[in-house]
Amino acid sequence: MRRFSKREVAEFYRRLSASRPIPQTELEFINPFTLLVAVVLSAQATDIGVNRATPALFALADRPGEMLALGEERVAELVRTIGLFRTKARNIIALSRMLIDEHGGTVPRDREALEKLPGVGRKTANVVLNVAFGEPTIAVDTHIFRVGNRTGLAPGKTPLAVEQGLEAVTPAQYKHGAHHWLILHGRYVCKARKPDCPVCAVADLCRYGAKTAPAEMIAARAQAVTAEPLVEPKETAKKAPTPNPPRKRRRERAGA
Ligand code: SF4
Repeated sequence: MRRFSKREVAEFYRRLSASRPIPQTELEFINPFTLLVAVVLSAQATDIGVNRATPALFALADRPGEMLALGEERVAELVRTIGLFRTKARNIIALSRMLIDEHGGTVPRDREALEKLPGVGRKTANVVLNVAFGEPTIAVDTHIFRVGNRTGLAPGKTPLAVEQGLEAVTPAQYKHGAHHWLILHGRYVCKARKPDCPVCAVADLCRYGAKTAPAEMIAARAQAVTAEPLVEPKETAKKAPTPNPPRKRRRERAGA
């Protein structure tokens, strides 16, 4: 698979960012703590499913102390529509206790400390650092793992390898939004079963060998969305004739 050039990577992100100028998570939250809880709940679940359950939970508890007071049974009951809800409820209570005991009831802006919380892995820590604290982290979930590999932007056998690949190629100005642009692209366009290549803004850059759109359609779309062609045209167009000859030559002709 041919590697992306720097120019192609920049163009890839330029187009994704143009389609979503303000990248943001689809999870609903009130503060860093509720974001952390929502991300813990979202493991192997959809954001829509999490958003259905969390308003009732956060109305009762949007701080670690309140969550602890609510108790594991009540939390489990409130999030019972989400997969693995018993384990997640146990983790939410345990992490609330740890936040109170070790971090003064606040969510730490620190990867190591975040990853020590029950139910929090590297991906969750990256999302919290990015969304709550504005850090340029790239959390690799199933969508980003697929997009990184399928497009050839950052191929890797593990989520960590894809994350490191994305870290290495993503231009600084796109790093903060990269997680959201890639996740939304994977969720709505580069879907797992059948990617929507006919409407994909980066189809001509993507290296996937089984695109669901014909090459001519992809080339035509690329022409429409690319400010400057990434591949120089083979023949330069003929120069249009100058409507009026330059003044000097006109004088020369007049004197002739
Ligand atoms: S062209 Fe198809 S496979 Fe490639 S990124 Fe777009 S939707 Fe995904």
